[in-house]
Amino acid sequence: MSYTRDSINQIWGERTPYFEEWSERIDERTIDTADHWVQSACILCSNGCGVDIAVKEGRVIGVRGRGDDHVNKGRLGPKGLHGWEANNSSDRLTSPLIRSDGKLRPATWIEAMNLVAEKSREIVNKHSAVAIGFYTSGQLFLEEYYTLAVIGKAGLGTPHMDGNTRLCTATAGQALKETFGTDGQPASYSDLDTTEAILHVGHNVAEAQTVLWSRILDRRRGPHPPKLVVIDPRETVTAKEADVHLAPILGTNVAVLNGLLNLIIESGQIDPSFIDEHTVGFEFLRDTVALWKPKRVEEVSGVPTEKLKAAADILGSTKSLVSSVLQGVYQTNQATAAAVQVNNLNLIRGLIGKHGCGVLQMNGQPTAQNTRESGANGDLPGFRNWDNPAHISELANIWNVDPGIIPHWAPPTHAMQIFRYCETGSIRMLWISATNPAVSLPDLARIRRILQQESLFVIVQDAFMTETSELADVVLPAALWGEKTGCFTNADRTVHISHKAVEPPGEAKSDLDIFLEYAKRMDFRDKDGGPLIKWSNAEEAFEAWKVCSRGRPCDYSGMSYEKLSRVSGIQWPCNEKYPDGCEHLYVGGTFNTAADYCEDYGHDLRTGAMRTPEQYKANDPRGRAFLHAADYEPPHESPDKDYPFWLTTGRVVYHFHTRTKTGRSKELNEAAPDVFVQLHEQDASELEIAEGDFVRVESRRGSIMGPVGIGGVLRNHVFVPFHYGYWDDDSYARAANELTITEWDPVSKQPHFKYAAVRITKINSHPTASPNQLIEEAQTRSEESRSLIDKRDESEKHIADSLGMLRDAERKIASAFKSVAERHSDEPDILQTCQRFERVSQVHEESLKRFISIYGEAVEHEASRVSNSLFQGPRSGGYGLLRDLHDLYLLTTEAYLAWMVLLQTAQALRDKEFIACCTKLGDETEGQRAWLQTRLKQAAPQALLIDTSERQNFK
Ligand code: SF4
Repeated sequence: MSYTRDSINQIWGERTPYFEEWSERIDERTIDTADHWVQSACILCSNGCGVDIAVKEGRVIGVRGRGDDHVNKGRLGPKGLHGWEANNSSDRLTSPLIRSDGKLRPATWIEAMNLVAEKSREIVNKHSAVAIGFYTSGQLFLEEYYTLAVIGKAGLGTPHMDGNTRLCTATAGQALKETFGTDGQPASYSDLDTTEAILHVGHNVAEAQTVLWSRILDRRRGPHPPKLVVIDPRETVTAKEADVHLAPILGTNVAVLNGLLNLIIESGQIDPSFIDEHTVGFEFLRDTVALWKPKRVEEVSGVPTEKLKAAADILGSTKSLVSSVLQGVYQTNQATAAAVQVNNLNLIRGLIGKHGCGVLQMNGQPTAQNTRESGANGDLPGFRNWDNPAHISELANIWNVDPGIIPHWAPPTHAMQIFRYCETGSIRMLWISATNPAVSLPDLARIRRILQQESLFVIVQDAFMTETSELADVVLPAALWGEKTGCFTNADRTVHISHKAVEPPGEAKSDLDIFLEYAKRMDFRDKDGGPLIKWSNAEEAFEAWKVCSRGRPCDYSGMSYEKLSRVSGIQWPCNEKYPDGCEHLYVGGTFNTAADYCEDYGHDLRTGAMRTPEQYKANDPRGRAFLHAADYEPPHESPDKDYPFWLTTGRVVYHFHTRTKTGRSKELNEAAPDVFVQLHEQDASELEIAEGDFVRVESRRGSIMGPVGIGGVLRNHVFVPFHYGYWDDDSYARAANELTITEWDPVSKQPHFKYAAVRITKINSHPTASPNQLIEEAQTRSEESRSLIDKRDESEKHIADSLGMLRDAERKIASAFKSVAERHSDEPDILQTCQRFERVSQVHEESLKRFISIYGEAVEHEASRVSNSLFQGPRSGGYGLLRDLHDLYLLTTEAYLAWMVLLQTAQALRDKEFIACCTKLGDETEGQRAWLQTRLKQAAPQALLIDTSERQNFK
């Protein structure tokens, strides 16, 4: 039995200042003497500290840090030292459960998996695989995610797969893709050992990654301490340590970052040769941020000019800089736009790809990096580009499947959209693994309503009964960390192996074994009739992943279980070029942006509209990084007279996610037992609220209650931690996400947890209004929505609607081309081409009949109504021709959009004949539009010419 330090009261431990290097300090907490120790890493935040698990008589009895691990040099934080206790919790799930007569009852694995497979087949047969969705986690192992990704993408072929990483790191991945071409952190933690300056933007590292904060504090207490700039609306522990703390009003990060970029550019503290040789877009960035003078930044964000200038002085003059970003950027207004401004800062200063320099777009969840790289979050495995046919072909070869089964006809479905499809009834089965959306997603009343729909079959795979598993149709008991073998990767690309130390309780199985069992029962096959999933254990899955990752940025091909077990953490890429792993990406300033290699062709940061492959290739940056500019736009919801406070949510140091694990450690729970509502001193005084008084916090979506903590937030701001739900206390509503808004970043699709308008009311006693009331309300609403869905089921045949509309449109287009040809027969090219296009549309109408015979037709005459409202008024002469071409363009656009939509449907249905038809005829319709556009441009100046001598009269 050993407890080397009190991590609850001394969270970051004694300082061990740097002298040349970060010294070892082995933190240990065991409750008995270990029989043996098993190599692993901590899975309670994205830092990924190396640990050994202490085992006695088949039980986990503690942990100690691994001194040779570059991530933590033996140190562990409070969650790492205590969180393992969840493994031994007496309320672990030990057998599957199946809902019958409204109640979850114990079942055998055979019964549960038979039901899951049977239901899957029934849904695929009736509605296709796009009626099945997966919502996974940031806490499984790489081998489990990869297996799930192959099942979803090459077994079923559904685009609906995402992780709860959408809530924490979607913006990290997206910001890296937008700037550098692919995901992958440019910097390493070791850069903190030598850097001269650190910038944390919306990253409360002291509470989010306590061991990383120890490393920073040790640098700060040693010789040559780095300067520290923190941007965060709250006065967090991290902010209190800063040399300069900028506290912007919620949602104004882009204004502040633009202001900093502007000051640095104006003062000439940039690296012009790096910008010229290694980036694109500088001029537009310079012109955009030039609008953000300090005075304007102050007006919008509340950040005083002197402070902004003080921060710019540090960031503009330092010779090395590590910038990090987390939820204060990712979960709020303009998330991706703000995150890329941080990339821009390092780029314009040329401070990337070398020691002491780089960007850490941090992860929140411990294995979020693996969710992203393996394809379990919707991206394709190995950071491949869904819009690049060569990448799809590569994957099809690796898996030996037809490329058509891999869903790549549209962007993968993000989590918020998956839940929306569940809400509207087009997803009929949702498989949730190792996460708890009934507490962690925004607008919880809505999420409960969705999960309770009878038309949705919900599978939950978890180690405990959670608020989500309570609503499931099938619950599958899962093994935890320490009870299974696998690898996971932290936020600085360090891969650790975690060996199985003990057996899982009862009949609980590893997530990998559950997915393998499902694949077997579904009998997924490759092109040659062999099993699609060719592995049967974690090491074989890892070997399969190595093949998939080879040649991509996250290359694991040089790793093996043996090698990972010999050392303590290897950073990817690890291959022939980097046999011991790679500390820095982008050394030499070549980025992953080449058109044939990049993961993404980029987006409009304001709207999320995608850049097409053609647009990207036309301006192929060939390895230069993008400096994307973005102007500030205010959030959609802001305080008003009814809801006068800004709400922001976040974490506390002792808990992780929804406390499923940390809430089961006595010490962690006692250190942070309940929700609280943090208010500014003056706001509390005006509302006559004292520390500890109970208040009700209400938004337009719901309400919670909690005791007040005073200080540490800006005026008119309220902070509520998001960890608390109802599994251990359902006596009153306390989940912060009862209040949050259903909105997301247009580019990364990460929900906006960090701003909402709320009001505060003091209540006179400890609250008793139970969340069960909320749940009952949700159930009532669920009845209503269920009856709506049931009614809709009978009438929903939207493919028939679309086919009917398209046939009507093609008929009208043929007739319109005919009329225009006749009206303008004195224009030879018009006559000839319109007659040609008349025949084209007649053939299109004819071709549709075959698919109408299969999928039906519903005629609503929408195209007829559009056509009737067009082609009005006199149509002779040059202007008449212009109007006719204009109207033809609108009508053909109606058909073009319908072909595009039907093509997606045909791909989801895997109807090859229908796919070929939609592709060919859609292209022909696009040909009609292209000609009309060309001819319109040609006709315009002739038709609209005026007597220029009269131009003055119009002025
Ligand atoms: S910093 Fe994170 S990974 Fe390290 S011990 Fe703490 S919770 Fe675990």
